[in-house]
Amino acid sequence: MTLDNYRDQVYSCLRCGFCFDLPAEGNRRICPPYCAHGFESYGARGKLAAARALLDGELEIDAEVANRLYACTECGACESQCFKYLPLSEIYRAMKERVVELGWLPEVFQSFADAVKEQGNPYSKEGKDRLAWLPDRRRVGGRASVLLFSGCTPSYLRRGIARSAFQVLEALGSPFTLLADEQCCGHPFLSLGLVSQAQAVAERNLEAILGSGAETVVTPCPGCLKTFRVDMPLLLKKKLPFEVLHLTEYVAREMERGGVYFRRNPGLVTYHDPCNLGRGLGVYDAPRRVATAVPGVRLVEMPRARQAAFCCGHGGFVRAVDLDVAKESAADRWAEAVGTGAEAVLSACPACETAFLEARASTGSPVEVLDIVEFLARAL
Ligand code: SF4
Ligand code: SF4
Repeated sequence: MTLDNYRDQVYSCLRCGFCFDLPAEGNRRICPPYCAHGFESYGARGKLAAARALLDGELEIDAEVANRLYACTECGACESQCFKYLPLSEIYRAMKERVVELGWLPEVFQSFADAVKEQGNPYSKEGKDRLAWLPDRRRVGGRASVLLFSGCTPSYLRRGIARSAFQVLEALGSPFTLLADEQCCGHPFLSLGLVSQAQAVAERNLEAILGSGAETVVTPCPGCLKTFRVDMPLLLKKKLPFEVLHLTEYVAREMERGGVYFRRNPGLVTYHDPCNLGRGLGVYDAPRRVATAVPGVRLVEMPRARQAAFCCGHGGFVRAVDLDVAKESAADRWAEAVGTGAEAVLSACPACETAFLEARASTGSPVEVLDIVEFLARAL
């Protein structure tokens, strides 16, 4: 859908401001870039004003304006509070598509896009190193009912998550496989407003997954999950012949079927809801269920949890255009997590783990940072 398709919604914004500031909750600010900079143009109301101006041909774009439009972590907090239930995420994506058409995709994102196209990941890493974290290749390239799709960030930057996902599936006794030539899920293209490129990637991934014979695709990355579960059927205009689950959802389901036991690993933990997994897909319970299935674990919630969770600041590739947003949001959320008194902060997303590891390093805190998948692997 183009930005013109959203004209009515864009014009129906009431300008009430609940999308970045909640007066009923003591003016609680919910939008990371607005929190970091305090200017209205960073929040949803400002973005919709920009969309109106774009629609009316009244917005003169330059590199700074483009960067501001991309300064969004895609956390969905604005949409969850919008008084008019506007499809804000869809509008932002259409707006980015328009920015791309006008030739103002920020340069740094052009290099991400080129890397996805040429190397199959946005980090300009060699495709041949993607599975370097694997202990051996006996599960690679075969056919099985379950496919582990690791995703670019766990495969290259947070390999502890990829390795742990593999170990957890092995411990569950699942008949699973990995693609010999796994490539990006297409999430970066969608994030940047490069929808036709995302479509080409979706077609390629569909073919690869069908070739694996998988009925269930399991991933530890909420970005891949949302891309496969929500975007891929829309891009390809068809229902997919397999289900896609976050690894915590898969483990929770296996637990219900019985026979999943973890070793005792006592401790007090808190859990940060990743935006794509929580607000994006409504997955709040499975991660909590599996974390507390480890005997001796007690979970303490942060003041802003579940739908009210504050973003870690590392979504939407925002740090490439606005490092302040990434750092300040991570520091804010980290302080809240540590304030619970937990000994470990768990999340279920590789980007959140990066955010918290950096925040922890800058404070010298002894509190541990782990993905739930890593936490479970430790208790096998
Ligand atoms: S909450 Fe919705 S209607 Fe109100 S200003 Fe924000 S986008 Fe507009
Ligand atoms: S998605 Fe999050 S970061 Fe983007 S405008 Fe909405 S609240 Fe702000």
